[in-house]
Amino acid sequence: MPHPQHPTTQSVSTLSPPRALAAMELRELGGTGLRVSPVGFGASPLGHVFGDVPLHAARAAVSRALHLGINFFDTSPYYGGTVSESVLGDCLRAAAVPRDAVVVATKCGRYKDEGFDFTAARVTRSLDDSLHRLGLDYVDILHCHDIEFAPLDQIVNETIPALRKIKESGKARFIGITGLPLSIYTYVLDRVPPGSVDVILSYCHYGINDTSLVDLLPYLKSKGVGVISASPLAMGLLTDNGPPEWHPAPQELKSACRAAAEHCRKKGKSITKLAMQYSLMNKEISTVLVGMNSPEQVEENVAAAIELSTSGIDEELLHEVEAILEPVKNMTWPNKQSKMDAD
Ligand code: NAD
Repeated sequence: MPHPQHPTTQSVSTLSPPRALAAMELRELGGTGLRVSPVGFGASPLGHVFGDVPLHAARAAVSRALHLGINFFDTSPYYGGTVSESVLGDCLRAAAVPRDAVVVATKCGRYKDEGFDFTAARVTRSLDDSLHRLGLDYVDILHCHDIEFAPLDQIVNETIPALRKIKESGKARFIGITGLPLSIYTYVLDRVPPGSVDVILSYCHYGINDTSLVDLLPYLKSKGVGVISASPLAMGLLTDNGPPEWHPAPQELKSACRAAAEHCRKKGKSITKLAMQYSLMNKEISTVLVGMNSPEQVEENVAAAIELSTSGIDEELLHEVEAILEPVKNMTWPNKQSKMDAD
């Protein structure tokens, strides 16, 4: 398999962003020493999770992201049943990006057909398979994916130790944990040896409709753990197209977000831009992962970040949207099959 360290076309590092878009300022990711772009590229759409994405659009989106200063890419074997990893690997090769110019994260423990398997043997094999699909020798971050679906003591006693061995082998530089309920983070971080978990990836808890992650930030800082926040658009709720069929939010939340999007549209403004900017405002969050499927979405989201740093957010619109979303503030949804709900 061709390797991204051997460029076959013009290297993205030799291309500069267009003058209209100044480069984004990188942020430190906890104590990892990694410096990541505030807008991170969520690659779940490349696994067709939000609808079909032709390969040429995926390549164009990744190439545009690299040109505009996005250096952080997140995928998982779960997204599209491994398709996202294969497509992301293809896109990085097509862009001929030098390996050390990008931060690549993938996950283990959650699979489309198999379900969940956080055993040491499975997560170790999982990373080897992921590396093969991505065409890489190592990933920068390996996350345990959606740990609320496992007994958390297994994560503490079996999975994290296995990931530490992987880290020692050099196949993953840093270890992370992901999931929806915020209580999983304190449970695990209070029980593993210090320094075992380098980063967390929380989703749908730092956006206009839900800011509950904010209460956890001082704790995470005290543990020296880097913070990645995903889904600033609440997995499609805060877009004009609305969420996909499978979106788990209760109807009340979906309706309120639809009303907020409609309000912005009537004023000739974009709910997506406002939501991106809102999530980017908190610099204790190192990077905001947004799922993108086209160069246009990449451009819009990077432009939103640049505009935020130069002109700030549209305060009037933000207050109006916050008022519309007030009745559903911090409303989330149960992960029905998760071990935590069963307990
Ligand atoms: P998101 O909130 O980023 O929304 C993605 C949706 O918004 C997609 O349909 C995308 O096409 C659309 N979109 C993006 N930019 C747009 C724009 N400018 N205009 C209109 N629509 C736009 O949700 P997400 O993709 O689920 O989350 C982002 C990433 O975070 C994922 O791809 C994944 O990498 C990661 N993530 C991880 C976990 C986990 O580990 N458990 C959970 C959720 C997300």
